[in-house]
Amino acid sequence: MHFLKKCDPRSYVKKSRFAPKIKSKMKLDILAIAVHPDDVELGCSGTLMMERANGKRTGVVDLTRGELGTRGTPELRALEAAKAAGILGLDARENLGMKDGFFRNDEEHQRLLIRAIRKYRPEIVLGNALEDRHPDHGRAGQLIREACFLSGLRKVETLDEGGSPQEHWRPKYLFHFIQDRYTHPSFVYDISPVFEAKLQSIRAYSSQFYSTGYEADEPQTYISSPEFLNAIIGRHQLLGKMIGVPYAEGFLTEKVVGVRNFDAFVQADT
Ligand SMILES: [Zn+2]
Repeated sequence: MHFLKKCDPRSYVKKSRFAPKIKSKMKLDILAIAVHPDDVELGCSGTLMMERANGKRTGVVDLTRGELGTRGTPELRALEAAKAAGILGLDARENLGMKDGFFRNDEEHQRLLIRAIRKYRPEIVLGNALEDRHPDHGRAGQLIREACFLSGLRKVETLDEGGSPQEHWRPKYLFHFIQDRYTHPSFVYDISPVFEAKLQSIRAYSSQFYSTGYEADEPQTYISSPEFLNAIIGRHQLLGKMIGVPYAEGFLTEKVVGVRNFDAFVQADT
């Protein structure tokens, strides 16, 4: 099974060192794209799990291996990403191997990402915020935004890894997830049923976040203290409170969202 193969930690480590092998078209409904392995878990993993429970096919494309992270190693982070993928029940996860900290929003990187978007042909993309504490997040947000648009232009030609031309594809919506800096959301997604699983997926990155099981002699960072995880919980409660549910994730959209009926709206007392 493709999913099991993808989430075998050893195969993930091996693949993540090089450009991923693309064998066949693999249509997804929702694709989350983010610059560092763990951004998706922090920003939108609850939404991915809720959509999966609703029968949707979900996947993640990590742009870099997070090799500039103060703690842990790229190999360890790849193992952690694979463990988190198992918790989220992803249909696919791959790493584009861009340079952490030094990737650019230029043609070379846009083409690499366009190729991944055309491979998975997602209806909806969830991506980094357009501005955040870490400058990589904002730059990745812009890169994702432009690649999603350019991917829809048929005269932008790309080849898959087998050398065959790819068909153009534009996701219908791009939603930017709120990660570190607070921004007033365009909408929030109720993730209360899967919030514990979301925390588990974050804790899978035991080198990065507070974990009693990780005892390497490495410096503490902004994100490795118990207070950081408490702040994550508080943030989700704050977003949940806006719509009268225990926990929610927040998103920003530039495009107006269209609805066909009001049944999907959370209707709680607020
Ligand atoms: Zn990050």
